[in-house]
Amino acid sequence: MQMYSESDVDTSTLLDRQITILGYGSQGRAHALNLKDSGFDVVVGLRRDGASWAKAEADGLKVMEPVDAVRGAAIVAFLTPDMVQKALYASVIDAIDEGAMLLFAHGFAVHFKQIEPRADLDVALIAPKGPGGLVRRQYEEGHGVPCLVAVHADVTGNALKMALAYASGIGGARAGVIETTFAEETETDLFGEQAVLCGGTTELIVAGFETLVEAGYQPEVAYYEVMHELKLIVDLLHEGGLRKMHKFISDTAAWGDLVSGPRVVDDRARAAMKSILAEIQDGTFARNWIAENEAGMPEFRKKMNADLEHPIEKVGADLRGRMDWLQE
Ligand code: NAD
Ligand code: MG
Repeated sequence: MQMYSESDVDTSTLLDRQITILGYGSQGRAHALNLKDSGFDVVVGLRRDGASWAKAEADGLKVMEPVDAVRGAAIVAFLTPDMVQKALYASVIDAIDEGAMLLFAHGFAVHFKQIEPRADLDVALIAPKGPGGLVRRQYEEGHGVPCLVAVHADVTGNALKMALAYASGIGGARAGVIETTFAEETETDLFGEQAVLCGGTTELIVAGFETLVEAGYQPEVAYYEVMHELKLIVDLLHEGGLRKMHKFISDTAAWGDLVSGPRVVDDRARAAMKSILAEIQDGTFARNWIAENEAGMPEFRKKMNADLEHPIEKVGADLRGRMDWLQE
């Protein structure tokens, strides 16, 4: 494993040159503000009729239409939703300087060939392992969110150096930047969010809630048990791994964990994880997701509505409304 830290960073090649951030959502806002506070020359590229334009200006940033914003940039960072990057790339590519760098926070568009970068451009990835809000907050507190770095094309011979300077500018080098490839970042990121972080976890919560409620227990008690308390466990895991969690939970909880956990995540669940990974690797997931977007996202909306209408959402909203410390 290759991990870079602040002492490996040389920002000299980037300091007096322009960095353009396309998009001002979760990652875009955090990267733009952190880079500006680190002393870099930042321009944000947004649609004039979009909701973020006024916000970026109010934050004190230079804002232009994407095609104007990319002119003269040493780095153009694509921080819009993955599914709009292809069209955005097509609309700005002719205005991007020869020898500039295209930078991504997730490898999807390049890895699945939605974008086939112009041959004179460096192409790299700086993927923070955390949402934008955290990338900004950690930076402001003098820390950073760890990042992955990957170089897809190094035409200038400076690609890694430039990408690390960018990572340092957003605070990532303070926590460490691990070298990877576009394939590894894209495939592991998709797998993590599908099987474990978002998909796996929420299905586990909902299934646990349904099991208790169907057995006649009160939904409010079930909610506290399977949703609310999850944060306490996740915090322990985040801070100190399995060992720290086991140190703080009761012996009874630990014994239950050890004997019952493998019965839930059993061979069938592991086989499902393997086939999810295989469909990410062979491009099936990407193809389906791109087709869903092209069709106007009918299945996405249907499934999302079903998720948000689940009874756990109603119980949860009521209970959270009574915990005023959650509203802060
Ligand atoms: P987002 O949905 O929060 O923000 C999207 C922004 O893009 C909007 O604010 C809008 O300003 C802009 N936008 C949308 N369409 C546009 C267009 N046609 N032209 C110009 N601007 C447009 O996006 P995000 O979650 O920050 O994701 C950005 C990238 O970062 C993605 O590649 C994503 O995979 C990656 N990423 C996200 C996270 C995360 O936690 N959100 C973490 C790591 C990497
Ligand atoms: Mg991720």
